Amino acid sequence: MSELIFERGRPGRRGTTLPKLDVPDECNIPDECRRTKKAEFPEVSELDLVRHYVNLSRMNMGIDTCFYPLGSCTMKYNPKLNEQVARLPGFANLHPLLPQLRSGSQLTQGALAVIYEMEMLLCELLGFVNFTMQPLAGSHGELTGIMMMAAYHKKNSESTRDTLLIPDAAHGTNPASAAIAGFKVKVLPSDEHGNVDLENLKEHLNDSLAGIMLTCPNTLGLFDPNTKEICQLVHDAGGLCYGDGANLNAIIGRVRPGDLGFDCMHVNLHKTFSTPHGGGGPGSGVVGVNETLKPFLPVSRVTKRPDGAYHLNYNFPDSIGYIAAFYGNFGMILRAYAYSLSLGHEGLKRVSENAVINANYIRSRLKDAFDLPYDRTCMHECVLSAKTLAKEHEIHALDIAKGLLDAGFHPPTIYFPLIVPECLMIEPTETESKETLDLFIDAVLKVLEEGKENPEKLHAMPRNFPVTRLNETRAAREPNLASLS
Ligand SMILES: *Cc1c(COP(=O)(O)O)cnc(C)c1O
Repeated sequence: MSELIFERGRPGRRGTTLPKLDVPDECNIPDECRRTKKAEFPEVSELDLVRHYVNLSRMNMGIDTCFYPLGSCTMKYNPKLNEQVARLPGFANLHPLLPQLRSGSQLTQGALAVIYEMEMLLCELLGFVNFTMQPLAGSHGELTGIMMMAAYHKKNSESTRDTLLIPDAAHGTNPASAAIAGFKVKVLPSDEHGNVDLENLKEHLNDSLAGIMLTCPNTLGLFDPNTKEICQLVHDAGGLCYGDGANLNAIIGRVRPGDLGFDCMHVNLHKTFSTPHGGGGPGSGVVGVNETLKPFLPVSRVTKRPDGAYHLNYNFPDSIGYIAAFYGNFGMILRAYAYSLSLGHEGLKRVSENAVINANYIRSRLKDAFDLPYDRTCMHECVLSAKTLAKEHEIHALDIAKGLLDAGFHPPTIYFPLIVPECLMIEPTETESKETLDLFIDAVLKVLEEGKENPEKLHAMPRNFPVTRLNETRAAREPNLASLS
């Protein structure tokens, strides 16, 4: 089977013809670096090539083909308008080393203006004084923010502050970023409402505290009503507050994290601002800062000169330095800018309203079929537990996920956050219609109903896919990506 899929080439077949060489046929590559025989590329016709890629794309599920309620990932629709803007030749064909401003040449001024204006827009929306637009992913933004916090403590001769507090509901990248930046991590338990346990927090407020990393809203899909108080407590103890704002759909245009007391926060443009996740990249995890952390922002930064021209400014002596090549993933910043301007402030407020309404609609229609670990209004995502279903009917979160595949839906996130047993974390996003939500909810209920009648059948799902039920552990340890058996 694998040969059929991957080895379609036959010598002599052509899908395209290259133009005649129109430069001198010379080459300065030393002999020892040259190929001694022809590269073995597959030789295929155009039709074979088109079928190959279209068929590959149909083996997977994506936001363009189905509802994709993957919690804590905000797989929302990326409007095609953003793509059109990103393809405008004046942006798409720019070289990052073009001169910034030369008399008579303004080629890069438009791109610099986009970076600058998007930064200002984010400051206004989220209540920070500046952003670095460079980080290439959310996790990269975390590392950037934590490095700025470390630089702040060092500047104040407080390098002994070596501990970061991270709630047990946090995304795995949080402790990973903290550890890479050289900090010790202490895990904060959540209380029975899904909030940070304040009494436990108070036990950690001492001279070794560097700060806290809080996800807002948290990964249980809940807004911690004590956020302001937590930031105050940490500040009073000499620590700093890092906000994980990867998914801000629920609060965008309504709450400004900077006003809550966060010193910095990363925002995933590829989640909240509707730029593509793109199979793992390119992403953008821009980081906002308040006055406290502003001096430590990475260079370069786009600033505006008195004559109105934009330029790249390297003159920030306390900067943590470079964290990415050039200015970050510019295409993502551009798409996010197009998205924000096309929605406007009112539009962004409706984003948060609809994201919250959609998640609560799913929660209220599904809560009787599951255990509901936290029975309160949720934000952009809702968290259910299949604990009782697993005990009484052998229906595990994994089985529901696999059953949904056969029903034509991408599964929700499962087994995360780790603190909820048999967890399903569903994030519909604001871009889905009520009809789609109803179809999904009906499909979940049907999977449960059929699973109760015939657990064996459910345990063998999915059946409609090139790859059926895998041994998850073996698939992770010994991945075989070339075979469909
Ligand atoms: C997605 C996510 C991250 C990490 O973002 P990446 O771009 O995948 O590195 C961090 N925190 C939360 C809460 C997230 O949802």
